[in-house]
Amino acid sequence: MENTRNTARVLVIGIDGVRLDLLPELDTPHLDEVARTGFLAPVEVDSATPTMSGPCWTTVVTGVGVAKHGVWANRLDGNRLDVFPDFTTRLAADCGLRTFAVGGWEPLFLARQGGPLFVSPTRLAYVAPRADTPEGWEEVDDRVTAEAEHLLGLDEELHAGFVYLGAVDETAHFLGCGQEYRRSIEAADRRLGRVLEAVRRRPGHAAEQWTVIVVTDHGHRDEGGHGGRSPQERTAWIAATGPGLPAGTAPSGLRHCDVAAQVYAALGIVPDSHWTLDGSPFTSAAIGA
Ligand SMILES: [Zn+2]
Repeated sequence: MENTRNTARVLVIGIDGVRLDLLPELDTPHLDEVARTGFLAPVEVDSATPTMSGPCWTTVVTGVGVAKHGVWANRLDGNRLDVFPDFTTRLAADCGLRTFAVGGWEPLFLARQGGPLFVSPTRLAYVAPRADTPEGWEEVDDRVTAEAEHLLGLDEELHAGFVYLGAVDETAHFLGCGQEYRRSIEAADRRLGRVLEAVRRRPGHAAEQWTVIVVTDHGHRDEGGHGGRSPQERTAWIAATGPGLPAGTAPSGLRHCDVAAQVYAALGIVPDSHWTLDGSPFTSAAIGA
């Protein structure tokens, strides 16, 4: 356990609003590599959870569902993150580990719209949009990726991080799920590749064992938009690779709340019973379920 804890590292990359059914026809070599060395599995947003970014991302990073964390919409007001913090905050505050969170969607990172979701990671970086357009959001994700590369490249201890890419979702809201949306997913995959390369180039990489989790929060209707229960909206997915994770066999029955549980498990941390996590590690959750 102690050995694992000394060398284990976890990176979660959240890509907002990526439809699972379109992935097979898109050029996403970096996500394909995660899936090849680990797995890519569907996640159904449960019926209690609106298929919205606020509730779904909160479930992903806290490991508890809406009934506990209290985030029901894209405004995070009335949340119970003080009781059910995100993993970057929990690991830093309760476990003495070093964490980061970086992205460009305000309520996740700033005290706006009821946020932030990421209350106090060791390092937090918010990248402000310069233009609320599809191109503006692509530029945000480029700067978010550069910031993640910077943080991963620092010669200092780092145990877990979260990188948020939002341009895919914004593009669908502006333009629907057509060619621009598909190109945006491919651009997100290139950014995933840059982040994974930054992990491999870390000064201490030879002594680290990384788990990588890539996850989306919800899908989109063909015309763009989500929040309902259609298969296109409620189908999300998780891809993951790392020590102890299934390789080549996709677990079934994965849930968003399993992500935070897997982060703790990968770091060799047994959740305190008071955390009352709803999720389970991927390895125990779901195979054959
Ligand atoms: Zn979203």
